[in-house]
Amino acid sequence: MDVAKSISEGLARKVLAASINGEVWDASRPINDNVSLKLLTWDDTDGKSTFWHSSAHLMAEAVQSTFPGAKFWVGPAIDKGFYYDIDLGDTKISDDDLASLEKKMNELSKQNNAYTRKAIPKAEAIQYFTEKGDEYKLDLLGNLTDGEITFYTQGSFTDLCRGPHIPHTGLIKAIKLTSIAGAYWKGDEKNKQLTRIYGVTFPNQKELDEYLLMLEEAKKRDHRKLGKELSIFTMDDDVGQGLPLWMPNGTIIIEELEKLAKETENAAGYKRVVTPHIAKESMYLTSGHLPYYADSMFPPMELDGTKYYLKAMNCPHHHKIFDAEQKSYKDLPYRIAEYGTCYRYEQSGELFGLMRVRCLHMNDAHIYCSKEQFADEFRAVNDMYIKYFKIFGIDKYVMRLSLHEPSKLGQKYVNEPELWKETEAMVRSVLIESNIPYIEVQDEAAFYGPKIDVQIWSAIGREFTLATNQVDFNSGNKFKLSYTNQHNTAEVPLIIHRAPLGTHERFIGFLLEHYAGKFPAWLAPLQVKILPISDKFMDYANTILQTLKKSDIRAEIDDRQEKIGKKIRDTEMARVPYMLVVGEKEMNEGLVSIRRQGKGDSGAKPVNEFIADISAEIKDRREE
Ligand SMILES: [Zn+2]
Ligand SMILES: [Zn+2]
Repeated sequence: MDVAKSISEGLARKVLAASINGEVWDASRPINDNVSLKLLTWDDTDGKSTFWHSSAHLMAEAVQSTFPGAKFWVGPAIDKGFYYDIDLGDTKISDDDLASLEKKMNELSKQNNAYTRKAIPKAEAIQYFTEKGDEYKLDLLGNLTDGEITFYTQGSFTDLCRGPHIPHTGLIKAIKLTSIAGAYWKGDEKNKQLTRIYGVTFPNQKELDEYLLMLEEAKKRDHRKLGKELSIFTMDDDVGQGLPLWMPNGTIIIEELEKLAKETENAAGYKRVVTPHIAKESMYLTSGHLPYYADSMFPPMELDGTKYYLKAMNCPHHHKIFDAEQKSYKDLPYRIAEYGTCYRYEQSGELFGLMRVRCLHMNDAHIYCSKEQFADEFRAVNDMYIKYFKIFGIDKYVMRLSLHEPSKLGQKYVNEPELWKETEAMVRSVLIESNIPYIEVQDEAAFYGPKIDVQIWSAIGREFTLATNQVDFNSGNKFKLSYTNQHNTAEVPLIIHRAPLGTHERFIGFLLEHYAGKFPAWLAPLQVKILPISDKFMDYANTILQTLKKSDIRAEIDDRQEKIGKKIRDTEMARVPYMLVVGEKEMNEGLVSIRRQGKGDSGAKPVNEFIADISAEIKDRREE
């Protein structure tokens, strides 16, 4: 805090904690050695989690004053906010209690109480919680050794905690307790059920308001809800958990995405391949997926004494295609692509709509190239991402570059010190040149090379992991892949794994939320609905339908005996981009009255003119 103050008072007001040699500390803790220091604010992940964990203590203080005798288990920060597991005895709490707890927290935060840290001898700590009759903290103490026990106090609340915490409660300016749940002590259903209270806090009201608005919008845009309403996909118990069935509407979206991918990849010099869904155990032993990845694969099936596995990734099959014919430097870069179907064994508790599934269709490709070609190939892959982001209106994205840790070469990372340095430098310089927002993380690379995770944000500001790109200088060796170079000697190619559109499952789940189900015309399962005002105009409606179909436009007639107002409302609800209303005037003058989804009446036009407009919109994959 003194360092922050020496820089500016404004900065000091924003400091939540400090990173000391990579470890997060209270900003008030004295520094006695020469260290590497980073001041953490709300903009840092560690700053946020310190803020939220401190908010859990503040909530505990409010609970303690409202329900004397409450006992506290653990209160961690989570992805977005915090919770605390509490034994409230026989008291059952409701949403009304949450409102009064919020009020109490606001009072307490205004007291600007400091979070103070105190090292306590184990015996003293045991005595404190024995007197309090708190079997939960005594249980936690059992696992701690003397000399590493700390208490944190703010106001009238003291907790056993290793910290760190923010300077004082006054920083917590906006508070929302979001829900109540039951949670078994230590997650074991044989134990007592505790009350878990979830909450989220912010340093200002504006951010809280925005967050609550986003949550509300996310609920409306929930891909499971929209997927059902718009007949995109379904799940069936007889098929199995995590195995989505794509309905006709969803299949149109899939085919449009594949068409886009094929056009883009053809233009970028990829060739397409098709590979089986299963392979022998021996191939996965070569690739190293077995035994290391066995937990994530479906169990094997045995045929004529040989074990076969459902493929969890396409790479090994593609390596075999590379290897099927002798290659020379003239054949490189060799790029092969496939919308490959993969199967992964996800725990049933982990399954979630289209986001976590057991069967996935991946926008996969592998590029085999020389070291000299690598930078250009990697740049081209990035360009492809940017092109896709433009098409889908993804304005916010970041690439997370995971690097190796030199001291772990030969253990956690394949022992190729020079290759690591070279490829990491090349990847970094391409990211900088292309002006792509990126962050670097140490010691999180894949075993066989640097890794780039692509994070994208939906229109309502929710973050998704879209895809992972990997540089691989190990599989070439494992599969004994080679090509002859200009000097007629054998060399092992570098491999780039890439999947810019991720999987159909996750990407369509993302798009449902991103567009709120209102797909642009090129992706919309139904592009045009013709709404005759009455039966009298059915023949005219049919002529229009045939004309649209000849132009490859996905169209239908609403031939129900309903009032036009209802037909319009229903078509709006089905998120069909265009409605063509036809009645007396339209029929007599050879026109259609156009309504754009969400925008209402946009005038009448001759049919051919409408077709020219919508065809251009579809061809350019425009978002109108
Ligand atoms: Zn704490
Ligand atoms: Zn791969």
